[in-house]
Amino acid sequence: MDAYCENLPKIELHAHLNGSLSEKTLEELGCQFNNVEEYQKLNKIFGKTEKTLEDCFELFKIAHNVTNNVESVYHATKCVIQDFSAENVIYLELRTTPRSESTMTKEQYIEAVVRAIIDNKNNIIVKLLLSLDRSHSKEVSEEALDLIIKMKERYPNIIRGVDLCGNPNEGKFCGDLFLKARENGLKLAIHCGEVKNNAEVKDILKIQPDRIGHGTCIHPGYGGSQDIWDLYKKLKIPTECCLTSNVVCGSSESYEKHHVQEWIKNELPFCINTDDKGVFCTSLSQEFEVISRLFNFTKHNLWKISYDTIDYTFCDKMEKDSLRKYLMKWATENTK
Ligand SMILES: [Zn+2]
Repeated sequence: MDAYCENLPKIELHAHLNGSLSEKTLEELGCQFNNVEEYQKLNKIFGKTEKTLEDCFELFKIAHNVTNNVESVYHATKCVIQDFSAENVIYLELRTTPRSESTMTKEQYIEAVVRAIIDNKNNIIVKLLLSLDRSHSKEVSEEALDLIIKMKERYPNIIRGVDLCGNPNEGKFCGDLFLKARENGLKLAIHCGEVKNNAEVKDILKIQPDRIGHGTCIHPGYGGSQDIWDLYKKLKIPTECCLTSNVVCGSSESYEKHHVQEWIKNELPFCINTDDKGVFCTSLSQEFEVISRLFNFTKHNLWKISYDTIDYTFCDKMEKDSLRKYLMKWATENTK
């Protein structure tokens, strides 16, 4: 099954740029820009057989520090695209929060990521979602959204949506910002219910995002409530499930107790994602292996997850059709 998961053409919809950087890319960035101290820290963490949650946070910090200029953001994006393509991901929605540093503006940051996507020569379609960080003030987020809208008009085929990310215990969900994003032609993928917060989950579901991230605390058995779960079941919003990320971070007790089983039992729409594959030491192929083991899935079940995920992408109809055709053709060639 491992080889099948690796070869299966896959769709990745929930991948943060910084968290997706591989050990190799981090080393390259560390060496390239002479961040000797970061490089030493990195070596120490990657030398361990088991990473702790603190190690994961340290990796996030390193990834953040080594992508603090236009060249490294460009290089990082190129490497992440290449890594996904190497494991047969044929469609990728990358997400990142526009940031400014002393050497670059938020606009230059977005330009660097977009440039790397345009320069991509691999067999993979790449789109970009730009994130608003929940810990930022409303004023900062409003300004960021205006920039995102402006950049979406400049690159309508690449910038497809807006995300709400960041520490779920901080800040709050501002529905009006996301409604404005939608009015301006952006799709909505919102981290939702990562921690128990029924009032906020309700507010998010009410605006009916195109997709939600994680959806951990929605089902009553996982910190949600019956009325929220009933509402969710009515809306059937595709949920981006990130099993390893949830288990490593402790938002899921174990793979066996992951909430995705409620989606499977109730035939609700979900897709499988990595979240931060560099930090959590996983890959999309590995996530497919995990789910296949947990639920005794057949090859066809796994193929169907990949195929159904096309419906939840933010690309246009022609691209969706070509992805479907590709997967159908692959199935006929690989069922013997
Ligand atoms: Zn995420």
